[in-house]
Amino acid sequence: MEKRVLVLNLDHSPVAVVSPQKAIVLLLLEKANCLSVYELLQIRTVSRSFDYPAVIRLNAYKNIPYRGVLLNRNNLFRRDGGECQYCGSRKQLTIDHVVPRSKGGKTNWMNLITACHRCNVNKGDKTPEQAGLTLRMEPFKPSLAYFLVDYAERQAEEWLPFLDSKVVQ
Ligand SMILES: [Zn+2]
Repeated sequence: MEKRVLVLNLDHSPVAVVSPQKAIVLLLLEKANCLSVYELLQIRTVSRSFDYPAVIRLNAYKNIPYRGVLLNRNNLFRRDGGECQYCGSRKQLTIDHVVPRSKGGKTNWMNLITACHRCNVNKGDKTPEQAGLTLRMEPFKPSLAYFLVDYAERQAEEWLPFLDSKVVQ
């Protein structure tokens, strides 16, 4: 799989993840500097080859509005580590409203968790307390950096020195 390139703002906050082709264009136009490369990898074009950038930094500050992480099934499962937040099971995962919708529970990061089918059925239309269930972790809204660290640990260790996982932009 093609490795992606982390783009940092002038102040070194992460702003985007782009293809290597896009990164090369930014470098050739001198709109960015290369801070780190994937060693042993090269980008080849017909006429020449380039070091494969891993992290680049923009040469001018870009004002970018907050980019949250999209609330969807996959991202929710990722935040919760693919585990039921009541019993830790990794099987038959579903999405549970901690405070049920019928009791005014919202559909947002703070009220949605990963739950296995069994716990979800047991809980039914009750709150965790009423159902005798305890959450393993307080639900939270993940930052872009949080998911970037997750990706970097699996695919792009070269990014890690440039990511401060606790910074919420
Ligand atoms: Zn469960």
